[in-house]
Amino acid sequence: MEKDEIYRITVPTPFAVGDVNMYVIKGERLTLVDAGVKTEEAWQAFTKQLAEIGYEPTDIEQVVITHHHPDHVGLLDYLPKSIPVIGHPKAKPWISKDPQFFAWDGRYFDQFLIECGVSRAFFAKLPNVRSSLRYSCERSLDVAVGEGDQIAGLPDWTVIETPGHAQSHIVLYREKDGFMIGGDHLLATISSNPLLEPPIEEGAERPKPLLQYNDSLRKLLHYEISKVVTGHGADVTDVPALVEKRLEKQKERAGHVLEMLRERPMTVFDVCRQLFSSVYEKEFLLTMSETIGQLDYLEHVGAAVKRKEGEEYIYEAVGSL
Ligand SMILES: [Zn+2]
Repeated sequence: MEKDEIYRITVPTPFAVGDVNMYVIKGERLTLVDAGVKTEEAWQAFTKQLAEIGYEPTDIEQVVITHHHPDHVGLLDYLPKSIPVIGHPKAKPWISKDPQFFAWDGRYFDQFLIECGVSRAFFAKLPNVRSSLRYSCERSLDVAVGEGDQIAGLPDWTVIETPGHAQSHIVLYREKDGFMIGGDHLLATISSNPLLEPPIEEGAERPKPLLQYNDSLRKLLHYEISKVVTGHGADVTDVPALVEKRLEKQKERAGHVLEMLRERPMTVFDVCRQLFSSVYEKEFLLTMSETIGQLDYLEHVGAAVKRKEGEEYIYEAVGSL
């Protein structure tokens, strides 16, 4: 059974997550999956490791991005503009730094955070929550792909949509041997963060990233997977066991939040401060995303309800898990 060879390239990032993995697929077209972070160190590490497998950056014929986060797209700015970039359409406004989308993102969160119980004064004091975008890129998305699509030059591979960690998240699956390039969907040692994003257009409903993420985790159980190579850290081989573990752990966290709501009704921000008292200011977006995720989950399973009081939503425990 002939298969495309795959090579891993690992580069440093300035983020808490540490190094990020990229993959080179020697298919009918030389394909890079994910593109590091925009720093000189990452570029040096990338070109060095690429040379070790016999290539130069200009040999790359296309880049597939698993999602739009800076540590997976930043080096697109270092690569020749002629190399097509392939990814989910929802990655487009992020990787192109679409000013209209960013303005919408700002307006949306201003309003949304008030509903979460964050005061304007507190929000004004915070460092820019989108500051990590300076490690991102400014590139167009040349080819949009989605569920079930194939990519030119990679006939054995299929795109599977896995929203949650990012709305634009996809993985690549090779059915003939169950090999998956998984981006940040399922990581061996850390649980992936379902991050808050604005609705893709004005007026649309807010995505509920943790609920999507849980669904995307369960979706993996429908595939015969021999190995997942990941965006950070080691490979995953026993997918069903790890999916089970992640879902269990998440339910446990939600149970903890439900206990808090039994003590007293709370806003999202009340819950966030209590859950993450030492880091919520520094990691505002991450911790708020995590908190909203748990509250969306509790609401979804009927264990909590929210009601509007003035400008804020108050969550209240009404059931059990
Ligand atoms: Zn990542």
